[in-house]
Amino acid sequence: MQAAENVTGRVNLVGADRATLAACLAQAGVPERQLRMRAQQLWHWIYFRGVQDFDSMSNMAKPLRAALAERFSLARPEIASEQLSVDGTRKWLLRFADGKEAETVFIPEEDRGTLCVSSQVGCTLNCRFCHTGTQLMVRNLTPAEIVAQLMVARDALGEWPSPPDGRKLTNIVMMGMGEPLYNFDNVKAALHIVMDNEGIALSRRRITLSTAGVVPMMARCGEEIGTNLAVSLHAVRDDIRDEIVPINRKYPLAELMAACRNYPGLSNARRITFEYVMLKGVNDSLADARELVRLIRGIPAKINLIPFNAWPGAPYECSDWEQIEAFAEIVNRAGYASPVRTPRGRDIMAACGQLKSASQRQRKSEVAA
Ligand code: SAH
Repeated sequence: MQAAENVTGRVNLVGADRATLAACLAQAGVPERQLRMRAQQLWHWIYFRGVQDFDSMSNMAKPLRAALAERFSLARPEIASEQLSVDGTRKWLLRFADGKEAETVFIPEEDRGTLCVSSQVGCTLNCRFCHTGTQLMVRNLTPAEIVAQLMVARDALGEWPSPPDGRKLTNIVMMGMGEPLYNFDNVKAALHIVMDNEGIALSRRRITLSTAGVVPMMARCGEEIGTNLAVSLHAVRDDIRDEIVPINRKYPLAELMAACRNYPGLSNARRITFEYVMLKGVNDSLADARELVRLIRGIPAKINLIPFNAWPGAPYECSDWEQIEAFAEIVNRAGYASPVRTPRGRDIMAACGQLKSASQRQRKSEVAA
């Protein structure tokens, strides 16, 4: 369907901001003086109601609906596959108009439901413990493709029109495939659409952007996007971090920690989350735990200890449970909350660091079967 629409040249409006919507309405013949009002109506239908056809837009005259339908589309990307974990985690593999794919994961918990959103197809960072990093970087996702991940999840959860409360999808983490701060402009545009009060209306407090440490973009992230920040720290010494998070060679720990200290809006109410993947015998010693505490001293912070999620051919093992507990104990005693993240969706390769390559492999085997 998507391909056919491309052939007919229809432009998808999902992911467009108000100015773009106004320009599109002008193309469809709406007079200048009506543009603002019409753009507002269109916005409401797309992002508040989630409609997928122009025909439902009852406050627009039929000829206008037809003129819009002729030129534009509100279709979602194709869902190439959809999987449900035994723990309720859901994963969608989306195929975009050019055939490129990215994954989105919905993680239901008792008090919230988090959508893990991708920012790129593949990744350039090559973190050694991350499956996505074993795959070549293909391209940045557009704002439309980032917003579309949310639309697809909302469609599946039946959350249109945007519910004021009692939502299933309450939080977003930019922790899927890719490095969001290497796709800053598109991620920013997408998140501004998602946060807009007259549409999807997710508060910036419920959105967390995770970076492996693109230091020069961190201040702008705080100033121009304003969501919570998570930092994939994973090691407390440059020699180890150089190896497992290679972007550290460009932006070493001292610079990364300085950027964290200076993160705009940082306070006890708005802490940085430091993610720390537990790799057996690599970064999990008690000396590492003590060094971690020293490193983040003075930064309002939470520590997220992530048991390593293995993947075929991974060069690491997950730390032993006792070691994770002893590590957490040191961090806790220093006054930091350090929940150990329960892996979710491991059975469908939806857990942290497992995205995308597995889906490709699985699809090949499906084809073979
Ligand atoms: N590029 C960004 C966004 C990805 S977030 C970043 O690095 O922060 C994905 C999170 O999962 C990161 O903290 C990443 O380091 C972590 N992760 C990657 N592979 C993992 C694995 N195999 N097990 C557990 N966590 C992993």
